[in-house]
Amino acid sequence: MAAPKVAVVGAGVIGLSTALCITETCPSCSVTVLSDQFSPNTTSDIAAGMLIPHTYPGTPIHMQKQWFKETFTYLFAISNSAEASEAGIHLVSGWQVFKNAPKEELPFWSDVVLGFRPMSEAELQKFPQYRFGQAFTTLKCDCPPYLLWLEKRLKATGVQMYTRKVADLWELHSEYNVIVNCAGIGAHQLVGDKKLFPIRGQVLKVHAPWVKNFIRDGDGLTYIYPGIHRVTLGGTREKESWSLSPDPGTTKDIFDRCCSLEPSLRGARDIKVKVGLRPSRQSVRLQREVLSQGGVKLPVVHNYGHGAGGFSVHRGTAKEAAHLVGECIAALQGSSSRAKL
Ligand code: FAD
Repeated sequence: MAAPKVAVVGAGVIGLSTALCITETCPSCSVTVLSDQFSPNTTSDIAAGMLIPHTYPGTPIHMQKQWFKETFTYLFAISNSAEASEAGIHLVSGWQVFKNAPKEELPFWSDVVLGFRPMSEAELQKFPQYRFGQAFTTLKCDCPPYLLWLEKRLKATGVQMYTRKVADLWELHSEYNVIVNCAGIGAHQLVGDKKLFPIRGQVLKVHAPWVKNFIRDGDGLTYIYPGIHRVTLGGTREKESWSLSPDPGTTKDIFDRCCSLEPSLRGARDIKVKVGLRPSRQSVRLQREVLSQGGVKLPVVHNYGHGAGGFSVHRGTAKEAAHLVGECIAALQGSSSRAKL
């Protein structure tokens, strides 16, 4: 069989990192990324990019931990290299605070982030409305620079990238041997996945360079995440809302909630409002499927549905998807050598 041709549909953090992992695990493959939007116009560009996992109720915890650990280790190495500033990856320390002690005092990811510990009474004095808190250091991706860095690495390894909306995966079958579906919320239409739904998120990106620590309310709704140039203030979680229009009332509400956690934000300038749709499911869809039409077979690997935690687990799920692509290619090579006998 000639060099297997792989098409990755989608150019958010999942599509780009999956394409990169495929080039690493299958150097003989010819990889192409097809997407109707690239950075800065993807959901991944809107995200805060904090490595604090979201929990997927339908995925075993040991698997989620493995994905998070692989992602953390990968980004930690970048943060410790000369590439860190170009890739937009940096360490950030801060606090997750709770009005009441959480059910689980030790989240499953507590031994992956750095220096996880309960907050001291003295630290809690900064947050008079909160009774309990956790202090730790984690990583943050500044999303548009990280996506551009991934694109640059892909181009350097010879990956082609084309702007193209794919209406049906079958339209790719004559050009490619394996299709990888990383369409995010677009998979709702592309493969008709009714288990996939949007959770709308509105955030503010502000100039407040004096804010150096992250602060997150344990309810996950209100957060302050400092990046290299801008601080992300959030947020909202609106299930099944497809609206991409910012809501001015929500902007004021987010700003007020964040100022009550960090009063110095009243001096924030240059407030930009962004909205994104988290591609949500009970579990990430990470699986092989062989589509069949009139006796013709089309191997597909799905990797979508990362909801509120795509950045936190992207490298782990990309590695697993690349492994599944390897299995598809081995199956194709097996059947082509059997056909020659
Ligand atoms: P996307 O970025 O949406 O990429 C999908 C790609 O597929 C796009 O390029 C799109 O153009 C393309 N596409 C879709 N359909 C088609 C088609 N038919 N044909 C061709 N191309 C197609 N996660 C974290 O881990 N940490 C955070 O701090 C964090 N903060 C967030 C804050 C907000 C406000 C939001 C909205 C999300 C946040 N997330 C966070 C979640 C994270 O953004 C997502 O999990 C992640 O971006 C999903 O990536 P993706 O590549 O699957 O989707």
